[in-house]
Amino acid sequence: MSIKEMVYFVGAGPGAEDLITVRGMELLKKADVIIYAGSLVNPKLLEYADKTCIIHNSAYMTLEEVIGVTAEAEKEGKTTVRLHTGDPCLYGAIREQMEELSKKKIPYEVCPGVSSFCGAAASLQAEYTLPGVSQSVVITRMAGRTPVPQRESIVSFAAHKATMVIFLSTGMLGQLSRELIQGGYEKDQSAAIVYKATWPEERILRCTVGTLEETAKREGIYKTALIIVGDILNGLKEYSRLYAPEFTTEYRKGRSPS
Ligand code: SAH
Repeated sequence: MSIKEMVYFVGAGPGAEDLITVRGMELLKKADVIIYAGSLVNPKLLEYADKTCIIHNSAYMTLEEVIGVTAEAEKEGKTTVRLHTGDPCLYGAIREQMEELSKKKIPYEVCPGVSSFCGAAASLQAEYTLPGVSQSVVITRMAGRTPVPQRESIVSFAAHKATMVIFLSTGMLGQLSRELIQGGYEKDQSAAIVYKATWPEERILRCTVGTLEETAKREGIYKTALIIVGDILNGLKEYSRLYAPEFTTEYRKGRSPS
């Protein structure tokens, strides 16, 4: 891609510095200004930046300040990278930044990243969509300072028994357990806590819906974790049809079983 003097929202990936996309890395190399989400982005990614690049940590900034820095850079014909953890489309608060940039007629593009829910699956060596087990993934969170619409309650999602990946809720695991159970999960339903997936200090804790809180407490985990719930954690029930010898696809003619 040709890199222009504009604003790029870039997904930093889940943690490991080599899990950013090639495009994201090129953008970091080219950036005149980087505003990174310091609370979650691996600072090692900033080593891709040029020595002359001006770097801001958005953890200490308001939306107004972020937009101010970006607008200033734009005026000077510079390239700004707004570096968000994982993929910016999930809990990234990017839409509000886009609105403000649009108001100022500042152009922007998005470069996707590997979300932490994918990083966690890799660490767990899990497949979220197993035949005969679950074919859907619910990505959600407990209500915190940001409310969650009532119709999207954990209780209502739990009733589906689809794979659930719960963000931003590590400080509320007792309540999360209660809501999962209220929704229909058994106490001994398999669950996992993945702390800092793909970082060097990653921890994978397999537990149950009923022991989420005590497991996290015992391990001293209060943030930067994902909770995964569902039968997919119990392993495979049946193989997919896709690679079965007798299954005909657009590319391969099925053989009748001998
Ligand atoms: N856009 C990000 C999510 C930002 S919200 C993404 O796509 O991953 C921040 C929350 O994401 C954290 O509270 C935590 O629940 C989760 N998170 C981010 N990085 C993580 C990681 N490496 N391991 C586990 N959870 C992570």
